[in-house]
Amino acid sequence: MAPRIVLITGCSSGIGLWAAVVMAKQPDFKVYATMRNTGKKGDLEKAAGGCLDKTLFIRKLDVKDDKTFKPVLDEIINSNGKLDVLINNAGLGMLTISEAAPVEGVRHIFDTNVIGLFQLTQAIIPIMKKQKAGHIVNVTSVGGIAGVPYNTMYCASKFAVEGMTESLAVELMDDNIRFSLIEPGPVNTSFRENIQEASGTGLDNPDIDEDTKKKFVTLVNSISDSFAKVAQTGEDIAKVILKAVTDEKPCLRYQTSEYGAMRAKQALVDSTGNNFLDMFRAEIKN
Ligand code: NAD
Repeated sequence: MAPRIVLITGCSSGIGLWAAVVMAKQPDFKVYATMRNTGKKGDLEKAAGGCLDKTLFIRKLDVKDDKTFKPVLDEIINSNGKLDVLINNAGLGMLTISEAAPVEGVRHIFDTNVIGLFQLTQAIIPIMKKQKAGHIVNVTSVGGIAGVPYNTMYCASKFAVEGMTESLAVELMDDNIRFSLIEPGPVNTSFRENIQEASGTGLDNPDIDEDTKKKFVTLVNSISDSFAKVAQTGEDIAKVILKAVTDEKPCLRYQTSEYGAMRAKQALVDSTGNNFLDMFRAEIKN
């Protein structure tokens, strides 16, 4: 049987790296593992081992630069005649006192997490429509269904992808293009190291008052402590992604842990949003 052809974004580290390796090790997948800077392919090459250039191919693709899409898509179609699965994984965080967030940083987050993801999806929809088959998997976050203080515009970007995905799932249902959301809670990856790419925290901003800075430090530390207790690995999330793409009838949403499922239920069932506010009210008092 011809292998299923998969394109994944953001594979130089973390969830993307693991998803590429876990899938390339399956007997029936051929993975195009893409990254914005192929100078950072060392970790993936090492993790891929014997799969490299057999079932795992590393290519350049920057979701913020649509000129990088065509060479990869042309190669995939010329070599395989099809593209079965797109995994939109690339993404950036932003941890900052909201009134200090620079607008360029906010644009960088949205250009990467929302507009770049959407543009790549737009480029792939005609291929999948022609095939009358395809599966698009978008990695969002628990922060895409429930806000996290000081992760304001990151959460906003993930909420955007949740809405986009639900809409597209219905729009392209008849074309046999499936959509799934992967909603991890905290994951131990380079995400936290990369979190300052779009902006600083605002703690060095002289215009922000000391009470606000103190509250930021207290709440961020307390959230980090709670997150550390439930953090998963990139490999854990990769296994959920593999489940999503091999399920006969893929779900629209996959939480990756009991914690994630509990937060999702809370957010989706409590239509007033009051339970969500009460949870953080208690956290601030502690
Ligand atoms: P990570 O920082 O290890 O991986 C993110 C990858 O995206 C990096 O390799 C980065 O280079 C890449 N990237 C950034 N901008 C890009 C661009 N313009 N083009 C292509 N690639 C780009 O972190 P991760 O945890 O593996 O994150 C993967 C996804 O999981 C992200 O969408 C993130 O929002 C989501 N997520 C992470 C966590 C977490 O706690 N780590 C939780 C929930 C969701």
